[in-house]
Amino acid sequence: MRYSRQIVFEKIGVEGQEKINGTNVTILGLGAIGSKSAELLTRAGIGSLTLIDRDIVEESNLQRQSLFTEEDINQPKALVAKARLEKINSNTKIRAFFKDINNKNIEDYVRPAMALDCTDNMQTRFLLNEFCFKEKIPWIYTAIIESTGMLFSIMPEKTPCLTCIFNEINQPLDSCDVSGIINTIAPLASSIQATEAIKYIINKPTTKELLYFDVWKNKIEKIKVKKQIGCPTCNSRFSYINGKKTNDAIKLCGTNSYQIQGPKLKLKEVAGKLEKIDKVILNDYCLIFKDLTIFSDGRVLIKAPNDKQARSAYTKYIGY
Ligand SMILES: [Zn+2]
Repeated sequence: MRYSRQIVFEKIGVEGQEKINGTNVTILGLGAIGSKSAELLTRAGIGSLTLIDRDIVEESNLQRQSLFTEEDINQPKALVAKARLEKINSNTKIRAFFKDINNKNIEDYVRPAMALDCTDNMQTRFLLNEFCFKEKIPWIYTAIIESTGMLFSIMPEKTPCLTCIFNEINQPLDSCDVSGIINTIAPLASSIQATEAIKYIINKPTTKELLYFDVWKNKIEKIKVKKQIGCPTCNSRFSYINGKKTNDAIKLCGTNSYQIQGPKLKLKEVAGKLEKIDKVILNDYCLIFKDLTIFSDGRVLIKAPNDKQARSAYTKYIGY
């Protein structure tokens, strides 16, 4: 019996296993967290997975993204993950999309019964937050950086939403590419995320607190969070799904450059972080780093072959 150890575990049992076998989970992002959570759910016998990721496998991903090997470099993560997961469990139906999710296409890809946030940026998370609130799809916010992680299971209308918790964010957040990450934090975050997903699927209560954990300090904290009465998302005043707020990459006519308008930036601070990675040119007007030209009003010009790669470079080096 493939799932005998899980069925013997009294909290799951035969009934729980049947629910797991009959459920679809959407995994948005197949980096370190998405890879591991997809593998755990596939091994647990999840009925079907919808995998979405806009990136290709890079050498620097192999340190922590456990579904990929050296042979997969330059291949789309979503498609590589599908092939690998099908070898692990041929009973799990897997649909994979090499796509950048935005307000125009999110409804084509993010499906019930639940979604896992394994993305690398807050813009996509706020978009997912609004979409899932509107469609009443539970989802699990999860983020990792350095040796720390954060996680919260969002049940639309029942728990606070992402905007209730992080409504004040208007500064770019650092990314793993800039701040770094130890690979051991990812499986811990995925373990908690996949467990929360299983709990929801089998009708058991999920966490009511925001979890903060640090694998370096051996610490797990539970932080109380509250629904905000004036939260725009919880009051159905949306700004991401209707495109009012966006970090769409706009192609500049006659060039191979894209423009992304993000929050204002302190160029000196940004330069200080980026010069740890590569050469930075900073003058009174702008900062030039690799294929990016960055302005203090938040505008960033990126030389890239397509908008997907432009957005990917923005998230990597500017963050948010
Ligand atoms: Zn809210």
